[in-house]
Amino acid sequence: MITVKNLYKEFGDLQVLKGINQEVKKGEVVVVVGPSGSGKSTFLRCINLLEQPTQGEIWIDGQNIMDSKVNINDIRQKVGMVFQHFNLFPHLTILDNISLAPMKVRGLSKEESSQLALNLLEKVGLKNKAQSYPVQLSGGQKQRIAIARALAMEPEIMLFDEPTSALDPEMVKEVLGVMKDLALEGMTMMVVTHEMGFAKEVGDRIIFMDEGLVVEEGIPEQMFSNPSHPRLKEFLSKIL
Ligand code: ADP
Ligand code: MG
Repeated sequence: MITVKNLYKEFGDLQVLKGINQEVKKGEVVVVVGPSGSGKSTFLRCINLLEQPTQGEIWIDGQNIMDSKVNINDIRQKVGMVFQHFNLFPHLTILDNISLAPMKVRGLSKEESSQLALNLLEKVGLKNKAQSYPVQLSGGQKQRIAIARALAMEPEIMLFDEPTSALDPEMVKEVLGVMKDLALEGMTMMVVTHEMGFAKEVGDRIIFMDEGLVVEEGIPEQMFSNPSHPRLKEFLSKIL
């Protein structure tokens, strides 16, 4: 589903990604871990072209997304992203937050997009909030809405960048629960998170990034019980 070849990204003189090679299969859940500043967010942002890579190739579903002929909006439709901060539209109801893009971008009718939004609200357990405004919701609820909003584009891949890092601890579980359901339905996912319980339970593979490179990867049990790279050992000792 995703093939990344020799990906480099620089910001001015700063080398942030230094040659990443990865393949993500359809339905696979890849958890990305690593210290702050190692390039995790930049890596994810390159995959839906929020950042323009400096060098390398990214293929999504057989399409080279760095080809100048590629329509950036098609890629963003295929690759949904959820951020640490939810960025809901404050002046729109929850229903409108979710149904806006399907109407504007996918060309669904108002009825179709509202029905889609209600189905997604049901999926994330918040159907009763359809007419509420973001300010009336808790952080965990807002993040579940942000996930529903991304799903309204019917993406083939979902990228999550520390989706629970800004939440109070009691709200982390409800968001991880929605993500787990999505994984079980077969969604292809890349998830940056420090939630190691989720990584172990839901992750098919963990990749550990350090200084712009993937320095170790493997199945969760192997990575956590038998880390080989000293930087991964150090990282795990800090977060576990
Ligand atoms: P992580 O998500 O692992 O914490 P990031 O990908 O956010 O790491 O950042 C990696 C490095 O790139 C950091 O040094 C950060 O300051 C730098 N960086 C990220 N985005 C930009 C940007 N838009 N302009 C300049 N430097 C950036
Ligand atoms: Mg980050």
